[in-house]
Amino acid sequence: MRIAVLGAGYAGVTVARRLDARLPPEVELVVVDEDPTHLVQHELHRLVRYPALEDAIQVPLDDLFDRAEIRTARVESIDRDRRRVHLSDGDLDYDYVAVCLGAQTAFYDLPGLAEHAVPLKRVEDAHAIRESFLDTCAAGGTAVVGGAGLSGVQVAGELAALADEEGADVDVVLLEQLGSVAPSFPENFQRAVHDELVARGVDVRTGTTVERATADAVETDAGAVPYDTLVWTGGIRGPDAMGRDRPAVRGDLRLDARTFVVGDAAQIVDADGEAVPASASAALREARVVADNLLTLVRHDREADPDDFLPRLQQYRFDVPGWIVSVGDGTVAQVGPTVLRGRAALAMKTTVGAGHLSSIGAIRQAADLVETELGTGGIEAVDGEELEAALDDVPDPAEVVDGVGGHGTGTADAPDRTVSEEPAGPIEIEIPVDDETDDDPEHRTVDLDRETDDDTEAETDADADANGDESAE
Ligand SMILES: Cc1cc2nc3c(=O)[nH]c(=O)nc-3n(C[C@H](O)[C@H](O)[C@H](O)COP(=O)(O)OP(=O)(O)OC[C@H]3O[C@@H](n4cnc5c(N)ncnc54)[C@H](O)[C@@H]3O)c2cc1C
Repeated sequence: MRIAVLGAGYAGVTVARRLDARLPPEVELVVVDEDPTHLVQHELHRLVRYPALEDAIQVPLDDLFDRAEIRTARVESIDRDRRRVHLSDGDLDYDYVAVCLGAQTAFYDLPGLAEHAVPLKRVEDAHAIRESFLDTCAAGGTAVVGGAGLSGVQVAGELAALADEEGADVDVVLLEQLGSVAPSFPENFQRAVHDELVARGVDVRTGTTVERATADAVETDAGAVPYDTLVWTGGIRGPDAMGRDRPAVRGDLRLDARTFVVGDAAQIVDADGEAVPASASAALREARVVADNLLTLVRHDREADPDDFLPRLQQYRFDVPGWIVSVGDGTVAQVGPTVLRGRAALAMKTTVGAGHLSSIGAIRQAADLVETELGTGGIEAVDGEELEAALDDVPDPAEVVDGVGGHGTGTADAPDRTVSEEPAGPIEIEIPVDDETDDDPEHRTVDLDRETDDDTEAETDADADANGDESAE
């Protein structure tokens, strides 16, 4: 029997690592990715300003698995009837497959856009954006970012910060078709993100639809915006290997009896009928359900009588305790009804990234990320063995947020929590420690030196909205 995991992003690595530890030895596990490294994509925008972080956000796949076979090849197509994957270097037959190929940038056939705009999906994209933007800084001019989802907000923030660092006279314009930035978030979060962008010097233009791009201007329904650097983060589509489609999967995350589709590659409606956003947080959680369902099916196929009923599979329920975005050196975190800005939010954001890295055993990369994000003032207290111990086997970045700020998503009825002033002293980050089999994680605490200047701002909003979600782009 063979299980194929296609794609080694958040979803693929999580599915495969859980199977790696638990599948019976006779069952083959093959992980396929066109890239030999796992990319921590939700930190990709940081490379625009900190290119040296490249090593910290990529982990060689060889380091992640004990027994899985890793095949570095491109998935060309999947023949589900024959249970065969066509790869760039040959075919791969399977009994079950988990399709975790992520999404591609959608340009929606807007004339000139794919030709002139740089997307932000891979490391090379981040480097290309940096190069173009440094030229813009040298000459003065305008950078336009199209699409104000998670990636657009964060890359616009990095560009504005980089312009400041370069002492450059550059306008950073963020265009969004819908009426607000981070359109699917709760309103209090949207407002905080908007305010942070404006405070950091980004020219935010919502309700503005991009219609086409030429070599030097973006044409919108509100007129042309000349640009020197153009970044497009305006949408996603399915992978080529799935016919550019993001198929809808059912609550157990299956497309058919032997095919699971996980993460950005699928459009997922959870067991309660809620549309699940394309996000790292959701991909990680979906992947756990898929791994457990695969283990159930394998056990059934190997042990049950042919006449036995098919086993009940777990249903995925979307439940993410909060969201965090960086805007240059600023950060906005929403935890339930509370919105935090400033250094506490930055510490949370960094812990989420470092938590993911350490959960897959990449301790050095986690330390590098913390060091770059928080600076030596923060790292001194958590460097070396102490950090390694504290970050050991952190299971789920989203749960790190639970440890810091409380649990649960905001609801229309939930009162806002006011955090108007932080107590003096170190910021404490509680990191849940889980050995992947323990559902009741203990918590360890890492103290980070806290800046005493007034850069921590906690915000409250009188009308917290219902729980929102966010697509990556
Ligand atoms: C700049 C940016 C910032 C973001 N910020 C956040 C954030 O703050 N919070 C959040 O929750 N989400 C964020 N996201 C979204 C998040 O990164 C994605 O939702 C997440 O990566 C989806 O995980 P995945 O495993 O489905 O796909 P991916 O992580 O994209 O993994 C897909 C894998 O499949 C491989 N692959 C693809 N096609 C093929 C092929 N044909 N053959 C072989 N291998 C292939 C790729 O190499 C990759 O390893 C951000 C995204 C970006 C770009």
